[in-house]
Amino acid sequence: MSKLLPPHGGGALKPLLLEGKAAEAERARAAKMKRVPLTSRETGDLIMMGIGAFTPLRGFMGQADWQGACDTMTLPTCGGLFWPIPITLSAEKALADSISLGEEVALWDTETDSLVGTMKVDETYTIDKAHECKAIFKTTDPKHPGVEKVMEQAEVNLAGPVKVLSETYFPEMFAGIYQRPAEARRMFEERGWSTVAALQLRNPMHNSHAYLAWVAVEVCDGVYVHQLVGKLKPGDIPAEVRVKAIDALVNKYFRKERIIQGGYPLEMRYAGPREALLHAVFRQNYGCSHLIVGRDHAGVGDYYGPFDAQKIFNEIPPDALLLKPLCMDWTFYCYECGTMASMKTCPHESKAVIDDEGNYKGGARLLLSGTLLRKLMSEGKPVPPEFSKPEVIAILNEYYDGLENKVEVKLHGAATGEVKK
Ligand SMILES: [Zn+2]
Repeated sequence: MSKLLPPHGGGALKPLLLEGKAAEAERARAAKMKRVPLTSRETGDLIMMGIGAFTPLRGFMGQADWQGACDTMTLPTCGGLFWPIPITLSAEKALADSISLGEEVALWDTETDSLVGTMKVDETYTIDKAHECKAIFKTTDPKHPGVEKVMEQAEVNLAGPVKVLSETYFPEMFAGIYQRPAEARRMFEERGWSTVAALQLRNPMHNSHAYLAWVAVEVCDGVYVHQLVGKLKPGDIPAEVRVKAIDALVNKYFRKERIIQGGYPLEMRYAGPREALLHAVFRQNYGCSHLIVGRDHAGVGDYYGPFDAQKIFNEIPPDALLLKPLCMDWTFYCYECGTMASMKTCPHESKAVIDDEGNYKGGARLLLSGTLLRKLMSEGKPVPPEFSKPEVIAILNEYYDGLENKVEVKLHGAATGEVKK
C-alpha cells in the first residue's frame, strides 16, 4: 500500500496517453480527421492530461465546467470536484462550424507542427473572455501575460474527451527531469517517503529558494523540486539553463536521499492565487503531500498581493484538496542574524547595501534586486555568496554571456526588494 496521498478526486491516476500499438492505430485514424491547431498553452494542458497530472480530467472542458471552474472552482460534470482554472481548447469559428458534434478531430501542435492527440468533439460554445480573466487573473489588463493568452484565444471552445499521442520534445529535451506522476510516485515510494513537499520553481534557485527547500526537508520526508519546463514569458531564464543551475545547487548543497528533481510541461499562466491552487491539484497527483507557497507564488507584476496565494488556501472548502500548503514568508540572508532568515524570524529591518562592485556595505537583509544582480553578472563582478551559490552564478553568467539579443527584463516594484505598505 502506498503511503502517499491518492490522486485528486480519490481514484487512481488517469493518464490519457496512448502508447505502442494503440497509439499507432490512433495515429493512423487521425490522418483522416480534421486538424485543430493547438497553442503552446493548450498543448501543455493536453500533455498534462496525457501523463495523468490533470487527473481526473478526461478532456478539454465544456461550458458547464468552464463556468464552474471560473465561478465556484468546481466541476459540475465531475460531481462538483474542486478545480481552480478552466482547461479549454479554442478554434476559429469557421473550423468549429465545419465540425459536427460527435466528430473526432486531430489535435495538432502548432509549435512542433505535429500530431499530439485526438478529441471527440461533444460540445462547442463561446465564452465571455473578460469574465474568465476577471475570475482567474483578477484583471482584464491586456498587458497581463495570462490575460493576453485568453484574449488571443480563437472564438469558439471545443470540448470533449481526448486521447493523447505525444509528449512532444519534453521527455528528450528534459531527460532526467521530465517526469510523469506515476514515475514520481514510484521514486517517492522507493525511498519510503510518505510526506513530500513540492517546491515550485520557474526561476533559477538562489539561496532564498534553497532555504525553502531546506526548511521543507526538516518537516517532511523529502522535497520534490518541481520545475516548470513549459513556456514562460520573454525575459525569463529558459528552462534548460535553469535546469543546469538548479542541478549544480542540488548536487552540492542537498542530501541526495532527501531531494528529487522533476519537471512538468505546463505553460505559466501567471494567475497568482488561482494558479497556486492548480499547482496544488497536480502536485497531489504527483504524490506530494505539501506544496511550498512562498511570496508571490505564480504572480507577475503587481497584480496580486505578496501573500494572496497563501490566503486563498484558507478560502477554499477544507475538503477541496488533500494536499496542504506549506506557507513560508519572504526569505533572505540577514547579515545581522548571520544566517538565512525570513520576515517571520528576522527582527532586523534594514536592507543590506551592496554597491555596484558587489561589495557588502552594511545593513541587514540581503534583498538583491534583479536589476543589480544582472548588472553584477554582466560586468563579471562578484554576486554576494550569501545571495546565491557561486556554482549557480557561473551557469547564469555563461547564459548571459551567450545571449545575443538581451531582452530587457522589466522588474516590478516587489522584485526590486521594495516592500509595499
Ligand atoms: Zn536579521
